[in-house]
Amino acid sequence: MEKIYDVLSKHWGYHSFRPLQEAIIKAILDGKDVLVFLPTGSGKSLCFQLPALCKEGLTLVVTPLIALMKDQVAQLAQRGIHAEAIFSGMSSLEIERRLDNCVYGSVKLLYVSPERLQTDLFKLRAATMSITTLVVDEAHCISQWGYDFRPSYLEIAQFKQMLPKANTVAFTATATKAVKQDIQDRLQLNHPLFFAQTFHRPNLVYWVRKTDNKEAQLLKALQQTSGPAIIYVNTRKKTETIATFLHNNGLTSTFYHAGLTMADRAIKQAIWSENKVRTMVATAAFGMGIDKADVALVVHLDLPSSLEAYCQEAGRAGRNNAIAYAILWYDLQDIAHLKQKWKESYPTIDQVRKVYQHLVNYYKIAVGSHAFVTYDFDLEDFKNATRLYTKEAYYGLKALESEGVIQLNEAYYQPSKVYVLLSREALYAFQLHHPAYDACIKALLRLYGGTLFTPYCTIVEKKIAQLIQLTEYKVQDQLYTLHRLKVLEYLPQKANPQITFLTPRYLAAKLPLPIDKIEQKNKIAYQHIEAVIQYVTNNRRCRLATLLDYFDEDESICNQCDICKRKATEKINHNVMIESRHYVMNAIRQGKQDLKKLIEAGP
Ligand code: ADP
Ligand code: MG
Repeated sequence: MEKIYDVLSKHWGYHSFRPLQEAIIKAILDGKDVLVFLPTGSGKSLCFQLPALCKEGLTLVVTPLIALMKDQVAQLAQRGIHAEAIFSGMSSLEIERRLDNCVYGSVKLLYVSPERLQTDLFKLRAATMSITTLVVDEAHCISQWGYDFRPSYLEIAQFKQMLPKANTVAFTATATKAVKQDIQDRLQLNHPLFFAQTFHRPNLVYWVRKTDNKEAQLLKALQQTSGPAIIYVNTRKKTETIATFLHNNGLTSTFYHAGLTMADRAIKQAIWSENKVRTMVATAAFGMGIDKADVALVVHLDLPSSLEAYCQEAGRAGRNNAIAYAILWYDLQDIAHLKQKWKESYPTIDQVRKVYQHLVNYYKIAVGSHAFVTYDFDLEDFKNATRLYTKEAYYGLKALESEGVIQLNEAYYQPSKVYVLLSREALYAFQLHHPAYDACIKALLRLYGGTLFTPYCTIVEKKIAQLIQLTEYKVQDQLYTLHRLKVLEYLPQKANPQITFLTPRYLAAKLPLPIDKIEQKNKIAYQHIEAVIQYVTNNRRCRLATLLDYFDEDESICNQCDICKRKATEKINHNVMIESRHYVMNAIRQGKQDLKKLIEAGP
């Protein structure tokens, strides 16, 4: 076992393992099936990457996101470890080349998506590889009870049949009891060894408060504490407004969301990690793989969509075991918003049918028409013609797509974008000197406001055209010129958005939808937000105890959350009251009845 320390220092430059890492690595090297629950950022990747180097053969890693694959392969390359990934968007030649490397070359780890396991080509090639370990990362995706269910994860068990000699090791950050059971059953693990770190973080103080003025509270909290902080909010726009607000109040901060370019994100993360600014204001997109031990404060200014997500985010505080705070401020509107958002993003069966009906009417497709017909699709026009609300249309289409009724091409998901490079004042000066562009810029400002000044605001040229009564073509032309003049960056949509009908035309009422599955999915999402609402509105039960109970861990009272603190104060007050009563009663019994004197003398 000396060897694993050598490998650790040779390839990673680390000299010690983090809690549980060594035990997990040994179990994997012993060929055991393993199930690991460790919070994000605790170093799960190393637990399977290191044994992959020590073992004969290839370790196959199933992971849900292309970004995660690319990231890990690049990091491994820097450590002198040959890993490959294959993902959609690669040419078949490239895929062949990488698979060849796995069969004949020095590759130790191969990263794939779960969908890949189902393809014949991959199965054929995998059979010729010497796969000795199958890793399932983000294993909670296999459970419909989890917060990120992916049906394709269910196919892993079948694929596993091809690898009778390999052990299966599964990793996830959060899992309730139901999800844990699901992972174990659905991956058909063989007497797995469990490794779990508890959510019980004794140094983390949970604090929840209803407030009408979150910004003032935030300012006070930051002013009264020190140390790096993360502020989570729900919209991209808000990351910037809060960061600006902090800046205006003399506090250094930066912001982060998925709409920024990769380069921007890297810069922002770096200046925060290196303590050049104290506070990071971010959406949930921020966090994967951040490795900062001294975060003293994690604040939520909006409600998270599940307690799983909450614990992951809050859990980024206090990794160095120093006292740290997880604060959440909410108001009643937030609760209404959370429910509203759920309602919009999880349409009912009837709503999905309604959007389908509108769609076939819009294209005038007759009942019984054949499948696989493609049309140009203009969401704006569709909405105008059908009078559907944006979100109704968007989530309805999404549901139809995920049920395999329609397919939207990539252009649909890549609308035109604009980013104004000048300050507001400079833009105004530009308008004054270039009246020809005044109308176009005014329309942009009217339609999109301040978001124009944050990187990549989604725009619809057609809307601008309608507003200023130019042709769409003319508007595009003006935007190109403004781009050349470096007034703004214009990223036009590359191709026409298109929609393909994958099934013959049905009567909407007869459209074969998996009703149970959709209803179930909606219900589970609702249970997740309900747990969040319970957590924040409850005012009697210790916060930690509530969280531990949710994750089916042994309950424990923290004595430091807002509720425990309040109860302690109530108890002191209660004791004082009882003591005072005794004092008064005694005094009266002793015949001292002058109340004023009694009170002045005190107990
Ligand atoms: P997870 O998958 O659990 O969210 P990662 O595998 O992405 O976490 O690891 C988070 C960070 O911890 C990485 O930057 C990794 O290099 C670092 N790390 C992992 N193990 C160790 C260790 N033994 N010593 C120091 N840093 C480590
Ligand atoms: Mg990970």
